[in-house]
Amino acid sequence: MTDIRESRRVAFKAKVHAWAKRLKVEPRQVRIQNMRQKWGSCSTLGYVSFASDLLGKRADFQEYVIVHELLHLRVPNHSKLFRASLIAHLPGLLAESYFAERSRRASVPKALKILKRAGAASRR
Ligand SMILES: [Zn+2]
Repeated sequence: MTDIRESRRVAFKAKVHAWAKRLKVEPRQVRIQNMRQKWGSCSTLGYVSFASDLLGKRADFQEYVIVHELLHLRVPNHSKLFRASLIAHLPGLLAESYFAERSRRASVPKALKILKRAGAASRR
């Protein structure tokens, strides 16, 4: 059981680092921890954290949160510029709708519905 959990963490971190390379950002540290209010966060010092229960969620949802947090290393807010780059990297994603949900830590089914409606980026 622990092995499965550990391999999920390793796989998740690998995904984060692959995206960081692609987005040309360098997080100082990537952490996976218990978070109740959010799926992820990014500090001004470059610490990027993800909720541990994100590991059990669907790949496209994980990817969304990963790209979202990593892009904050470049743009620390949810400005038009931020949304534009998010959409550029996850085409087909209705990021706008997702933002409205995210502040309240949208339930995964709800967020997935939004992703699906947007033509889910992971089905590229
Ligand atoms: Zn954000």
